[in-house]
Amino acid sequence: VLTQIVDLVRRDDANSRPQLEALTGLGRAVVNERLADGIELGVLEELEAMPTTGQRGRPSRTVRFRSDAGVVLSACLGAVSLHAAVSDLAGNPLGRAFRRINVADGPRPVLGSVQTLFRRLLARVDGDTAVWGIAIGVPGPVEFRTGRVVAPPIMPGWDGYDVRDHFYRRFGAPVWVDNEVNLMALGEWHRGEPREGRDLLYVKVSTGIGSGLVTGGQLHRGDSGAAGDIGHVRVTADRRVHCRCGKTGCLEAVAGGWALQQRLEAVAADGTSSALAKRLASHGHLEAEDIGLAVAEGDAVARSAVVHSARVTGQAIAGVVNFANPGTLVLGGGAIRHGPLFFEEFRKSVLEGAIELAARNLTIRQASLDFNEGTIGGSILAAENLLRPQALRLWLADGNPRVVAEQLQGAA
Ligand SMILES: [Zn+2]
Repeated sequence: VLTQIVDLVRRDDANSRPQLEALTGLGRAVVNERLADGIELGVLEELEAMPTTGQRGRPSRTVRFRSDAGVVLSACLGAVSLHAAVSDLAGNPLGRAFRRINVADGPRPVLGSVQTLFRRLLARVDGDTAVWGIAIGVPGPVEFRTGRVVAPPIMPGWDGYDVRDHFYRRFGAPVWVDNEVNLMALGEWHRGEPREGRDLLYVKVSTGIGSGLVTGGQLHRGDSGAAGDIGHVRVTADRRVHCRCGKTGCLEAVAGGWALQQRLEAVAADGTSSALAKRLASHGHLEAEDIGLAVAEGDAVARSAVVHSARVTGQAIAGVVNFANPGTLVLGGGAIRHGPLFFEEFRKSVLEGAIELAARNLTIRQASLDFNEGTIGGSILAAENLLRPQALRLWLADGNPRVVAEQLQGAA
């Protein structure tokens, strides 16, 4: 009964005693008793609403879920970037941090950086607040059920690494590990703008290319967690196009950031493009921003390379759009730093390749959360896994989910 009451209050379906009585069908005495339990456990609170002037009778009181009862930590790892955040139980960030990393350095140094940022973020929020859950997004395939990374093409040393256990040992809270693009898709579905609530396909084009699909408000992970890994679908039969995964002709080997960068660095070195040569000379390699600046300056070589990459990606995604029929398609990742050209060409190419019924009402937009969608999605994933009714039943009587951490992370 307490689980039901906490769930109704948290979802904002009820925020007063009479509403709780009506929705649960329970008598006033039982509702009062359970509310008192929830307040004593620290998960509910009751606030006096200010009486309106001239109103008679007792002031009304509202019941609220205490989203400050604990905090959740989330981290989103890209090939070369690490975003981390500490959030309340409603998924609102209380602090954020960013650091450049190289995921190829292996799990120990990289996860060490995550821990450092987590400790720093925790020091900035009220020191007494307990960590209730942790979500980690990694740029490779993850078996979601076990929290292990499986055969990641760009993460040497990570194969089979138990990321969940790594953080559980250090923080004693339940941990969920997912592919980083899945967390981004979840973040955009819940907090992105405009918020449409329709099935959402998120495509990340950065160093690599990946996607995440939210249907009916839930992530579609597939049978083992591999769903959405479109960077390694074959888009050309040309066997000279070698991919980082060991195969040939993959989408990201043709259109991903690393392939684009390699191609343009070669062009910059042989002098075909003076704009790119200038940037290559200034810091020894090219980044998404360099390519974007060359495009903005009207450099023909940079422009045609970006257009090609956007169109090939759009063609591949049109196939996914035909298959999954999302209502919203979001483009995120470093490619949106190339400026409007990539997005516009991508958009055109998707609409050309999609069937009429799938394209007709499709919203295509750019990611809207300033590169924080991964940590936002992570905090929501952790909070949902802690607070959904099946989870509440396991720990609510103790007032603290940490006591059943292993059960919680295994049940997700
Ligand atoms: Zn590949």
